[in-house]
Amino acid sequence: MCTENYDPYYPDRPVVDQYIPVWAKHPGLGSKPAFIWADDQAGGGSGVSPRETLTYSELDSAVQRMAAGLLEVLRRGDTVLVLASPGIRLVKLMFACQRAGLVAVPVIPPDPSVIGTPAEGPAHRHLLRAVSQARPRAAVGDAGYVGAVTRSSVSALASLNWVSVDRLERWPAAASTVAAAGDGVYEGCGPRETYLVQYTSGATGDPKPVVITAGAAAHNARAARKAYDLRPGSVVVSWLPQYHDCGLMFLLLTVVSGATCVLTSASAFVRRPRLWFELISEFKATCTPVPSFALPLVLRRGRSEHGTRPLQLQTLRNLILVNEPIYKSSVDEFLEEFGPAGLRASSISPSYGLAENCTFVSTAWRGTEVTLPSYKKLLPSARLPQPSLLTEAPDVEIVVVDAETGKQVEDGVEGEIWLSSPSNGSGYLGDSPASREVFGARLQGRAGPCFVRTSDLGVVHGTERYLYVLGRTTDAIVVADSQRRVPAHYIETAAFESSPGRLRGGCIASFTTLPASPSPVVVVAELQNGGGGGDMAGICHDIRQAVWREVGVTVARVVLAESGGVPKTTSGKLQRGAARAKLLAGKLPKVIEARYAGLEPA
Ligand code: ATP
Ligand code: MG
Repeated sequence: MCTENYDPYYPDRPVVDQYIPVWAKHPGLGSKPAFIWADDQAGGGSGVSPRETLTYSELDSAVQRMAAGLLEVLRRGDTVLVLASPGIRLVKLMFACQRAGLVAVPVIPPDPSVIGTPAEGPAHRHLLRAVSQARPRAAVGDAGYVGAVTRSSVSALASLNWVSVDRLERWPAAASTVAAAGDGVYEGCGPRETYLVQYTSGATGDPKPVVITAGAAAHNARAARKAYDLRPGSVVVSWLPQYHDCGLMFLLLTVVSGATCVLTSASAFVRRPRLWFELISEFKATCTPVPSFALPLVLRRGRSEHGTRPLQLQTLRNLILVNEPIYKSSVDEFLEEFGPAGLRASSISPSYGLAENCTFVSTAWRGTEVTLPSYKKLLPSARLPQPSLLTEAPDVEIVVVDAETGKQVEDGVEGEIWLSSPSNGSGYLGDSPASREVFGARLQGRAGPCFVRTSDLGVVHGTERYLYVLGRTTDAIVVADSQRRVPAHYIETAAFESSPGRLRGGCIASFTTLPASPSPVVVVAELQNGGGGGDMAGICHDIRQAVWREVGVTVARVVLAESGGVPKTTSGKLQRGAARAKLLAGKLPKVIEARYAGLEPA
């Protein structure tokens, strides 16, 4: 049987009875496309060619056959590593694992050609980590990975029992034994059973494996469906990696809603960002999730691309920004650039989520224009251009807590964001003290459910009770003189805006020289196009001035780095702790460094 949901913190939590979604519920949906894979075949900007379409009934029969094939070699409840390139096959495979009642552990596929060579990178380390932590009974993957990994010198990989997706895809329909129940609820993982082990991004350390039940995933997909108003007829465009939280969630979200999801790969987007907009235009997309760094990247790269067709972005109702805070100036510039093509300010939907809560927590979208208040105006009480509405769902509670006392704070006071929701993960894999601390938090002076501690600073602000996500508690910089905690993001925003066009948006990190601040504050910023050959010392000076002026923090060192100098996760998130370690070890590729003495800039 599937692993029973071990939810020691809240055994009585009501679970969603009807867990995985169900296209059979939508009459007439069978012949409609569920997923379309579209890649930039021409590569040079001459348009988009869909390569593969999968209707709802094709998805259903493929999932059925593949699940039957999986159950030939595995038993319900077994853990299986999923290692496949983005594409329709990966979509089918993820649903087939669920249908077969397996615990899926999707991992970033490493480049098969470098497995076993000195060029092995973070994806390979991640694979090894997943194998040792999740102890899968088998791995299922593309034939290319099967060959490469079984040749690996690492015995844990070489000895894995491999199932090739190609074989599953050819599994005969007649052999199918995994039936769907009449009401559309498929056999497979029960709501309290583990459905997925999902890794966090690794922004603050090694990625952590979060145990997600089928009930939690379904609850989260439904919450997001409601928030983004997805339904049959809605069209999503996503290039987010399908093996990671938001990208993965959008697969579920699509079928929960009966929508159509047009997929492409993150690498296709990075090669040619305009592809993203061409897909939105061509398929009349209503919704598209992207990490916040996509906006500066598009602005940096998109303008120089030649498009042959005019863009039509009027249909877009939700441009969902996830993953990281966003510079307000980037949003403004983006709207200026794409407003003429029909992009509306009301479509910008900054959203907050984390792997420990499946993915989705809250979003700012309400179909009306959301003003992103400038952090300057919000200083000093609340300071971030990242409002999210507190959820209206009755079974979800989001509170801001004084982390030292465990007491909920008043509106307007900042503290750590805590969540209690059926979407909560069940813990980190293995019953570690960290797992109990993060997933088993209790509010001081109140009986009731456990909360997940997010390690994010937040504040509830204004009569509408917006939740402002201020940044990570671990990255906040304590200012020596006043004991103020300034989120690193504010310092980075001020730095970015001090030198328009000269620094790479999303590639600026600020931190203190010692992990436990107060200690001297450093800003490391990647130069845009090498800084344009201008006055480097002047850029450093401007950064220091702006940070002091905007957020009242004295910067002791400014380092201008080459492109790629600031460490990031594979999902593009800043790793400030790793940046500190790299700088202190002398491994950061500096172009120039300026050190300052004294408290305030002249
Ligand atoms: P790790 O936990 O391994 O260090 P991670 O926290 O980046 O990595 P995820 O669970 O993928 O891993 O990301 C969730 C985090 O991303 C949140 O806790 C928050 O810090 C950040 N985040 C997500 N959305 C937003 C947002 N809208 N504004 C600010 N930060 C956000
Ligand atoms: Mg985290």
